[in-house]
Amino acid sequence: MSLHIPFDNSYARLPGVFYSPQPPVPVAAPRLVAFNEDLARVLRISPGDAQDMAMVFAGNRVPEGAEPIAQLYAGHQFGQYNPQLGDGRAVLLGEVVGTDGIRRDIQLKGAGRTPYSRGGDGRAWLGPVLREYVVSEAMHGLGIPTTRALAAVETGETVIRERALPGAVLTRVASSHLRVGTFQVFAARGEIASLKRLTDYAIARHYPDAEGPMGLLAAVRDAQARLIAQWMGAGFIHGVMNTDNCAISGETIDYGPCAFMDTFHPETVFSSIDQMGRYAYSNQPGIAVWNLAQLATALIQQFEDREAAVEPASEIVHAMPGLIEAHWLDVFRAKLGLSSAREGDGDLITGLLDRMVQGEADFTNTFRALGTDGARGQFTDPSAYDGWAGDWAARSAGEPDPLAAIRAANPAFIPRNHRIEQMIEAAVAGDYEPFNRLIAVLARPFDDQPENADLTRPPAEDEVVRATFCGT
Ligand code: AMP
Ligand code: MG
Repeated sequence: MSLHIPFDNSYARLPGVFYSPQPPVPVAAPRLVAFNEDLARVLRISPGDAQDMAMVFAGNRVPEGAEPIAQLYAGHQFGQYNPQLGDGRAVLLGEVVGTDGIRRDIQLKGAGRTPYSRGGDGRAWLGPVLREYVVSEAMHGLGIPTTRALAAVETGETVIRERALPGAVLTRVASSHLRVGTFQVFAARGEIASLKRLTDYAIARHYPDAEGPMGLLAAVRDAQARLIAQWMGAGFIHGVMNTDNCAISGETIDYGPCAFMDTFHPETVFSSIDQMGRYAYSNQPGIAVWNLAQLATALIQQFEDREAAVEPASEIVHAMPGLIEAHWLDVFRAKLGLSSAREGDGDLITGLLDRMVQGEADFTNTFRALGTDGARGQFTDPSAYDGWAGDWAARSAGEPDPLAAIRAANPAFIPRNHRIEQMIEAAVAGDYEPFNRLIAVLARPFDDQPENADLTRPPAEDEVVRATFCGT
C-alpha cells in the first residue's frame, strides 16, 4: 500500500527567486522509526506500509504532487547579519490543507545538500531528529504553538560529527516556514518587488485580515508576544533565537539546543554555542522585540517614503514589551490558579519566582504542586515558601477551585533533558521504547499518570545535562 499526500502547493507557484528546486538526495537503507498517525489524519494523509513510508520520508521516493524546493532566507545569527542562509539540509516537499482548513508545509529535514548548504553535508543525525520530534510534540501537548513532527526515518547511513553517528531524516510540519530572515534577504538586497510579493503572500497565508506591511508587522508582533509568554510559562528556553529561527506564523520553530528548565533560574542557558547568554531564559522577551525590530526594518524597505514609515513601524515595535508583559501576567496568573486580574498580581508572581531561585526549586514540579504540601518540599528552605503561600491563599480566597485551576494550567510532564538524552542513547542502540513512551506521556502532560511518575522526577546529580548541542 502506498502513502498518499494530497499536495496543494503555493510557495512553489511564487517566482523562482524565493527558492531553488531541489529533490531530496536518496539514502542507503531507509527505516521508518516514527509516524504520527493523529497528525496524518489532520493532514488528510493516508498512510502506506512501513517500507513505502520509509521511502517517502527518507526522500528516496518523491510522492505524486510534491514539488521539492529549498527555501531561501537570511538572518541575524547572534546579532550578526548573515546575508546567505536558506534550507541547507531541508527540502520542502509541498503543502497540504488539513481538515481544520489550515495550510501546512511538509518538509524533510536532513534530506541532503542544497544550494544553500555552504560547508554542511545536508544531513542530520538521529539524536537531534528524535529530540525535535519529542520536544515539538511535547510543545503541542502543552498547547504552545509549534511546528510538529510527522515522521522520522533512520537512513542506514553514517554522518560524521564529533564522531560517526547514525543518520536520520525528520518530517517537519509547519503552518509555514516563513521566517523574519525570509523578509530580510530581499530587503537587504534591495529586491523590493520580491519583498512586496512575499509580504502579500504572508498576509494571505497567515493574517488575511492584516492591512499591508504594517498590519502584518502588528500581527506577527501579537503572535510572537503570545508565544514568548507561553515559553516563559513553560520554563522553555529556545536556545537559538536568531531571526532565521523566528517564524512569521508565531509557531516555535527550529528545535536545536533548546531545553526545559529543571531547577528554576532566570539566567539559565543550555546551548553550547551561546557563550554570552544572549538567549538565556529571561532574555527571551527582549530578544523577541529585537527580532521584531529586524522584521520592521525589512518591511519598511517596500515603502516609497521610508522616512514616513519609520514612525508607525516603531510604534508597533515599541508596544511589544507591554504586550509580552500582559500575556506573561495572564499566563502566570493562570499558573497560580487565578481567574481574575488584580493590582499586585505581578508582585505575587515575582515573589514566588524569587523564592524559587533562592530555594533552588524545580520549575515544573513547584507550579504543579502550588497550594499543597508538595510545593514546600521543592524548596531547600520550605519556610521561604510558607511566607508566600500565605499571600497566595489570601489572594485566591474568592476563586471557586484554585487547586483544579492550578492543575489545568501547570503540566506534570515536560520533556526533561536527561530523559531526552536517555531516550536518544536507547534509540541509537536500537531500543525505541523510551521514545515511544515519552511521546505517549507527553501527549497528555496535564494528566497525573501515576504509572509514569518517574518521568516527573528532576535529574539526579549525575543525570544533569548542562549543555545542549545544535546537532547540525
Ligand atoms: P539551524 O541551526 O538548523 O537553524 O541552521 C542554520 C543554518 O545552517 C541553516 O541555513 C541551515 O540550513 C544550515 N545548516 C545547518 N546544518 C546543516 C548541515 N548539516 N548541512 C547544511 N546546512 C546546514
Ligand atoms: Mg534554523
